[in-house]
Amino acid sequence: MRDRIIKSLAYARYQVQQHLELDDCPHSAQYDRKDQRCQKCEFGPECQWLCSNDEFAALERKSTETLVDALVFSLGYIDALITRWGHDSDECRCEACAWLREAAQVFAECQEEGGSPSSAAAS
Ligand SMILES: [Zn+2]
Repeated sequence: MRDRIIKSLAYARYQVQQHLELDDCPHSAQYDRKDQRCQKCEFGPECQWLCSNDEFAALERKSTETLVDALVFSLGYIDALITRWGHDSDECRCEACAWLREAAQVFAECQEEGGSPSSAAAS
């Protein structure tokens, strides 16, 4: 299960990287929580997510709960992208829509396995 989450995160990471506009970023997208510019940056949440879930962040050592949280962020991010593109994520065969269906399935299975208590409220 953890492997499937980590695999799902790889695609989301790729999409987030594609959509960050980093020409003006003084940190090359290494989020710095002490920097005012990062706190105000419109890409702050994505950037912060990316930095804590990149391939160097040793995802294998993180708790399943942390991985699931990262997956929830990815689902929201890709879902928003698809909505912006006007795709029908139930029918569409593009990579992003296929990913969303697959990742939603992974997430559902995580919840069935007992899931994380923090998201238990969302039935
Ligand atoms: Zn699509």
